[in-house]
Amino acid sequence: MRFRTGFGFDVHQLQAGRELWLGGVLIPHEKGALGHSDADVLLHAICDAILGAANLGDIGHHFPDTDFSFKGIDSKILLAKTCQLIGEAGWKINNIDSTLCLERPKIMPYLQAMKDAISQSAAIDQDVISIKATTNEKMGFIGREEGVAAYAIVMLIG
Ligand code: MG
Repeated sequence: MRFRTGFGFDVHQLQAGRELWLGGVLIPHEKGALGHSDADVLLHAICDAILGAANLGDIGHHFPDTDFSFKGIDSKILLAKTCQLIGEAGWKINNIDSTLCLERPKIMPYLQAMKDAISQSAAIDQDVISIKATTNEKMGFIGREEGVAAYAIVMLIG
C-alpha cells in the first residue's frame, strides 16, 4: 500500500454582486467570491491538495481560467474531475482535512451541507472529510472582509 500527502491553498477576493460558494454550498451573504469559476475557495484548495498528493500538477493546469468552458463552472464538477484524474492514476482519497479562513459569515450552520456536497462529488464517506473554520482576528485582507482563503491537506492511498 502506498500513501501520499498533498497540500492545497487558495484565495479569492470578496465583492458585492457575486455569489458566495463555499464547500459546494451557496451561502447567503452580501458579498461573494470573485473568480472565473464559481470561485469556491474551499473546493479549489481541496482539488489542489488532491492533485499535489498524486503529483499531477495543479488546478490551474487542468482547468485553466483562459478556457471559456470553465467560466462560471460549479467547482463540484472540478472536484469530481480531479477525483477521476487521480483514480486513473491508481489513487483514492483516504481523508481530507481543511480550514476556511474568513471573517464573516459564520459557516458552522453550513458545515454539514458542505460535507454532503464534497462527499457526493468526490464519492467518499463523510467521516473522512474534515472542515474547520477560523477568522483572521480582523487583521489583513481577510480581516477587512476583502477576501477569503482556504487550506487543505489530503492523504491518498493506492
Ligand atoms: Mg480558486
